Amino acid sequence: MTTTRPERDLPAVSDLARFRHRVAGEEAPLDLDAAEAAAADLLRALGLPLDSEEMVETPRRMAHAYAELVTAVPFELTTFPNRKGYDELVVVEDIPVRCLCEHHMLPFVGVAHIGYLPADRILGLSKFARLVELVARRPQTQERLTQEIAEQLEQRLQPRGVGVVLDTEHTCMTLRGAQARGSRTLTSAMVGELRKNPATRAEFLTLTRGLRTSR
Ligand code: ZN
Repeated sequence: MTTTRPERDLPAVSDLARFRHRVAGEEAPLDLDAAEAAAADLLRALGLPLDSEEMVETPRRMAHAYAELVTAVPFELTTFPNRKGYDELVVVEDIPVRCLCEHHMLPFVGVAHIGYLPADRILGLSKFARLVELVARRPQTQERLTQEIAEQLEQRLQPRGVGVVLDTEHTCMTLRGAQARGSRTLTSAMVGELRKNPATRAEFLTLTRGLRTSR
């Protein structure tokens, strides 16, 4: 088994409109001016004055911040031939997850652990973080985000199996409402041999459980 931590080589999002397409490929318009006006309306409706020097630019900053959080940056998913026929688990741990919950538009933040059993191709290790980022850049539920990460890997890499564990904190739960501070949400998705083969599944889950208890 190989384990590694991902590199962080994400490009800066400098031109959001240019990247305005989604995982599914459909185009969606991005109107930053309208978003800024709507953000100002929201803040005023909440009784927050915007006339101070500190707040006057806040609607613009809000619009840009949300636009960034719901815009996926496309990238080439580099794969390589599996020349030596490596057939053990590859596990990439502690991949950052930052995503908006679609129910409150508040962030949930944490880590993903991804394992796969290679078939004919192997994936460049830095690409795991890029793949998570791609799927997380739109409002999601954690359940669907977990499944979509597994599906993307399944489709693009066609490995013998994929396992994904997400371990996050939802600020909609920890900052408001129940204020369940420190509570974490765990989800997993297993595909192929990681779903079917109890030994492989157990190997992956034991490893990721070890990561959680060590925190
Ligand atoms: Zn929520």
